[in-house]
Formats: sequence, structure tokens, C-alpha cells
Amino acid sequence: AVPIHGVPGTAKERTFIAVKPDGVQRGLVSDIIGRFERRGYKLVGLKLLVPSKALANEHYADLSKKPFFAGLVDYMTNGKAPVIGMVWEGPSVISQGRVMLGATDPKAAGPGTIRGDYCLSIGRNICHGSDSAESAEKEIGLWFGGKGEIVNWAANNDEWVVSDN
Ligand code: UDP
Ligand code: MG
Repeated sequence: AVPIHGVPGTAKERTFIAVKPDGVQRGLVSDIIGRFERRGYKLVGLKLLVPSKALANEHYADLSKKPFFAGLVDYMTNGKAPVIGMVWEGPSVISQGRVMLGATDPKAAGPGTIRGDYCLSIGRNICHGSDSAESAEKEIGLWFGGKGEIVNWAANNDEWVVSDN
């Protein structure tokens, strides 16, 4: 059985991708999902929620000493719009997910990336992606894990998307 956080380095690698409240408010959910879907990555977990303060604090625990931390947690949790949390699966999805999002500061994000195409400010950068296998395991476990929340499934086009020859 595949662990819920996947198997890094294989076609079953998994990452946690989120559309933040500004991305939801601005109607960018379908675009962000569509980019991963069209690339060939497989959606194995999806939910819409207003995260609790506890969840946001734990998700961003590494940043708890930063001056922007309180504002960041408020932005994520104040309920002015929900967050879409997703788990995507496929080859190199952790590193490629980060490439697809673009640089943390949208002013440094290239055209063709999500942030480079749709946003302007580091505090409203519309999306999140795990930055390493360790982060992906932590974040998938934090946002998902209820029974049946992650689905292992075979796509009919798997053989047309993933092969080494
Ligand atoms: N952030 C912010 N101000 C900053 C730096 C970061 O508000 O000066 C927020 C921003 O939403 C960013 C998040 O904190 O996406 C997490 O920061 P990190 O460095 O982990 O960037 P990411 O992994 O999201 O690219
Ligand atoms: Mg980060």
C-alpha cells in the first residue's frame, strides 16, 4: 500500500498544494487545478476549508519568529475566503510543483508560473506548495489523514503519461 504522503523519487511522489484565500477569492481555483491536471499530475486529495489557527500555526511553524507571521496566519484563517487543500501525485511533483508556482515573491516569479502570471505581492501570493519531501510528508499528514481523504487510483492514461522508455 502507498503511504498517504506517497513515495518520493517514484511515480507515486506526492506534494501538498494549496490555493490560499486570495486565490479562492479571485476565482483562480480552476486555473491552478487545471495546470497540474493538464501537466499530467494526478489529484489524490482535495478539500475546501477555513483552517484553524492551530493548523495554520503548525503548517507555518518554521516561520513563527518572522515579523509577518501573525499577519500570515490571520490571512490564512480569518474566513474572508476558504483555502483549497490538495494532494497531487506524480514524478518529481514536489520540485516541479514549486517550479509551477514560481518564486515566493511574485515580483521575482517568471511569466508562465502561477505567481508570475497572477499576482504581485509576497503577502498575497495565492498558492502554496511543499518545498521538500520532509515538508510534503508533514503537510499532507497535517491537512489530510481522515479515512478515505486520500484516494489511490489508476488513471486510464497512466501509461501515456509516465514511462521511462
Ligand atoms: N510571506 C509573507 N511575507 C514575507 C515572506 C513570506 O507574507 O516577507 C508569506 C507568503 O505567503 C509565503 C509564506 O509566507 O508564501 C511562506 O513563506 P515561504 O518562505 O515558506 O514561501 P513559500 O514556500 O510559500 O514560497
Ligand atoms: Mg514555504
